[in-house]
Amino acid sequence: MYTTCIFCHGDLGRNEAIEEFPVGRRLAFDGARGRLWVVCRRCERWNLSPLDTRWEAIEACERAFETTRMRVASDNIGLAKLKEGLELVRVGDPVRQEFAAWRYGDQFGRRRKRAALITGAVGAAAGGVVVGGTLAGFAMGGMFPGLFQAAQAWYRDRVLLRLRDEGGDPIRIQRKHLYTSRLVPSADAAGWDLRVDHIPGWDKWGKTNKRKNRRHTMIVHGSEAIGLAGQLMAHANRRGGARKAVRDAVGRIEEAGHPEAFLPVAARHAMNDFSGSGKADLSAKKIEGLMKPLPGTLTGLKVDMRLAIEMATHEQAEREALEGELKELEARWREAEEIARIADSLLVPEGVDSFIADEREQIDEDPARGARAG
Ligand SMILES: [Zn+2]
Repeated sequence: MYTTCIFCHGDLGRNEAIEEFPVGRRLAFDGARGRLWVVCRRCERWNLSPLDTRWEAIEACERAFETTRMRVASDNIGLAKLKEGLELVRVGDPVRQEFAAWRYGDQFGRRRKRAALITGAVGAAAGGVVVGGTLAGFAMGGMFPGLFQAAQAWYRDRVLLRLRDEGGDPIRIQRKHLYTSRLVPSADAAGWDLRVDHIPGWDKWGKTNKRKNRRHTMIVHGSEAIGLAGQLMAHANRRGGARKAVRDAVGRIEEAGHPEAFLPVAARHAMNDFSGSGKADLSAKKIEGLMKPLPGTLTGLKVDMRLAIEMATHEQAEREALEGELKELEARWREAEEIARIADSLLVPEGVDSFIADEREQIDEDPARGARAG
């Protein structure tokens, strides 16, 4: 078996995940046509594997692909990253994709524990006793009202993100902006936009003019909305969630069908909460002094809704990133498949196609054969 790329002569590397085929860090396979390639990570070209080593390896790849949870797929190409570091490119009709809810339970649970620890520590420092955030807050407020207010102002003004608006001007988003920013329904294909408050500039020192520090609002669309909403929701969800809230959040996404379909639902939900609350038209001054989030805003939604939005935007962002890679892979595959068709028929001129078809049929009829082969 070869171990270097036939195109660039680079080392193809090794893997321990596919016993039947230990060469390569990225394998591409097509179960229906009986092809197996090693994708060179140096030049990205596809090296067709020798016929005699192929069948059992393809079956092993298929099994590994199906049991891997980290995977994405377009119509023709799927990509899975195995724990062992091997990447599998699967050619063919997509395997049914599940929403990977398991990825989130742990993460939100850990955040919740950490938030509880911090609240406890702050309580201990403030009152000498661990009494939990709220009670410590009251005690502190009672003894030093000025200090309490300063602490609140510090918390509300904390800068979460520094970025540029559509005009390229620097802006910053503070925690209090989460109290009023929200998802809004839109008429385009995505079905939702992000309406986010912010103030100009990256720091307050250069801006002594108060009017320039006034709150502005921008509407963010498409991929940018996905990225920004994901980042803001991580702040809105910094306390994580209990197991039940995470379960409910997953339930909400499953009810919508998939993460992409859930976000417009979330936007309509946020809209109803917001306009139904009677607080929708507060004066600018009241909004500036808000101590609590308005209903329907990024922090004002119920916890399961907030967690679901973070999960859905995360899934969407990841999908978009991988879709570019899938497109690239698809182009490479079409090229490689053309060569493979010729190469395979040259190697075994008499009836390689019927041999593959027979082999395939036998495995389909008796799945245990495939398992035994592996
Ligand atoms: Zn190469």
